[in-house]
Amino acid sequence: LIKQVADRVRRFIPAASLARIGGDQFGVLLTDLETVGDPARVAKRILDAIAEPFSLPQQEAFLTASIGIAMYPDDGLDVDDILRNADAAMCYAKDQGRNDFQFYTRAMNATAFRRLELENDLRRAIERDELRVYYQPIVDVDTRQLIGAEALVRWQHPRLGLTPPSEFISLAEETGVIVELGKWVLETACSQNRRWQEAGFPPLALAVNLSSRQLEREVLLQTVRRALNSSGMRAQYLILELTESMLMNAADETLKTLHSLRAMGVQLSIDDFGTGYSSLSYLKNFPLDQLKIDRTFLKDATRNENDAAITRTIIAMAHSLKLRVVAEGVELDAQMTFLRENGCDAAQGNLISEPIPADAFTKLLKESAPE
Ligand code: C2E
Ligand code: MG
Ligand code: MG
Repeated sequence: LIKQVADRVRRFIPAASLARIGGDQFGVLLTDLETVGDPARVAKRILDAIAEPFSLPQQEAFLTASIGIAMYPDDGLDVDDILRNADAAMCYAKDQGRNDFQFYTRAMNATAFRRLELENDLRRAIERDELRVYYQPIVDVDTRQLIGAEALVRWQHPRLGLTPPSEFISLAEETGVIVELGKWVLETACSQNRRWQEAGFPPLALAVNLSSRQLEREVLLQTVRRALNSSGMRAQYLILELTESMLMNAADETLKTLHSLRAMGVQLSIDDFGTGYSSLSYLKNFPLDQLKIDRTFLKDATRNENDAAITRTIIAMAHSLKLRVVAEGVELDAQMTFLRENGCDAAQGNLISEPIPADAFTKLLKESAPE
């Protein structure tokens, strides 16, 4: 495949100006440029050529490429500078959604630098005790009773303040820090839940989010087993939330891992259902206990008949597959009514409470305890 890519790129440039500079990275040297439009045109042609399907012995392959362009002398006076800046532009093109090219700008180095800084900070965040777990209540739709909580991580950054997961989870995934981070969240949340049980509150089902990078079988099973053992929380109270994309790309190995978790007594939930592939086949093929409907459906279910119909259908379908249904992002009373009328089992959202720190959650438990 790499050779075929090189052949295609070579159509547009002299062979001596092409080099493979990394596993799947090529460097192209263009000289005698008349205008800055020239490299852009070449980049566009290369992208188009790569977009054509490749034929491999067993299958066709579809590729996209990302191209970064740095110009001498504006973007660097020597090879190292030019290559580094072209690389920064390439990363930027990737971040912008791939299959595109970008010219280098100084701002890209600043972005790359901030990212590097954040990455270093993140690696140390666990040791420095800067991560926090917030808990969002989950209630029974009929009785409004508190039945569970979702653990949601935050980062108390020394300079940036309380930082939401949207700012650092994908960085943690790219860098692999997510494995350590996820383990910490799991252990912290299980211990907390156990403490609530020991304090005599009715037992809560604790939902914890998993990233695809945590799916490595031995590591995950050991992590979960240790979190349960060291906290003393029973497996039946743990719900692991998986995303649709994790199951879409799942190999047999993943299926085995999920079955082993199930065998330990842990429950499995699909998160944000409806935003991804919404495939019915994985609902059938994977050992799941719960489905969480994404908030985008609920948002319009009380105003738009199509959204209402879809939400109703998801609930009915999930029930016929013996899955418990949780709605997330419930913000309005009308939505709660809609959920009750359509048989949704549980709900979570700002109407009930935002995610809150453990001590605030303890207060909530005290208030909702029967006299
Ligand atoms: P999620 O698992 O789908 O979590 C629900 C998100 O919806 C949370 O955002 C929550 O604060 C937000 N939310 C809850 N109720 C409402 C509502 O009524 N209205 C609106 N607009 N939003 C509501 P948050 O805490 O920012 O977390 C975002 C995502 O980050 C989570 O989405 C989850 O995918 C990820 N995440 C959080 N903690 C972890 C973690 O420990 N590990 C991993 N791998 N991912 C995590
Ligand atoms: Mg979740
Ligand atoms: Mg969700």
